[in-house]
Amino acid sequence: MNASSTRTGKAPPLVGQYTRKEFREAVSGGRLKCVIVAVGATEQHADHLAMDHDIAMATHVAVEVAKRLTPAVVVAAPTILGLSEHHMIHAGTLTASPGAWFSVVFDTVASFARHGIRNVLVLNGHAGNEAPVDGILRQWQQYFRTSYPDFNLQFHSYWNLDRSGAEQLVGVAVPGHAHDYETSMALYALPENVDHQALAAVPGSLATLATKEKGARLTELAVEATAQYVVEMLAGEHRELRRGTTSGERYRQAQANSVPSPVSIQSS
Ligand SMILES: [Zn+2]
Repeated sequence: MNASSTRTGKAPPLVGQYTRKEFREAVSGGRLKCVIVAVGATEQHADHLAMDHDIAMATHVAVEVAKRLTPAVVVAAPTILGLSEHHMIHAGTLTASPGAWFSVVFDTVASFARHGIRNVLVLNGHAGNEAPVDGILRQWQQYFRTSYPDFNLQFHSYWNLDRSGAEQLVGVAVPGHAHDYETSMALYALPENVDHQALAAVPGSLATLATKEKGARLTELAVEATAQYVVEMLAGEHRELRRGTTSGERYRQAQANSVPSPVSIQSS
């Protein structure tokens, strides 16, 4: 996408492709309503997939959704880094320290909030980001809802929005790591990312089950499910606060099961 398509009046999919005037007017005019913040990782993906798979695929899905829902949706991909300490044994893997990564993602969301966006979906492409975000998302949601009551922030990995559909196609764990799911999608959406010689050199690998045709269907499932989710967000659905941590859940259950609870004793 280059600037000329914007000048002809078509909204571009990436925020950086807007001029400041175009972005300001799209928000104030009520046309631009949702940002997808694409996050992933740059980390080893066996010998046959390029290391940028996770951020490249998350961005690909997000951009396809933005194109379908234009001009209501725009994409920001603020960092190629993810939380990948567990892959640092493989040279070329990049990892952020968790606090730094959280800060970049939070600040990206906050920047859009300050400029009038009220719906943000953080769309994730790296399984290693899930548990850390699960631990902090509720805090972020409550912070933004205190500052902007109509703000809705959600986080999902693109394979989770139609996991059952994906699992019917690949028959093994979704997403796996550089296995059938990721490799099939790369064959279709990021063909320059696949080293076919390296793929053929590991007979019996789950990655050798991958096909471009399967990748087309898996990519469509992810795009369709994400687009549907965004449409529902824009209709006022999916405003749920993320559940608390496991220990928090245990605490609440213990409270519910004890009569009288420690809290009621203190407050009486
Ligand atoms: Zn991956």
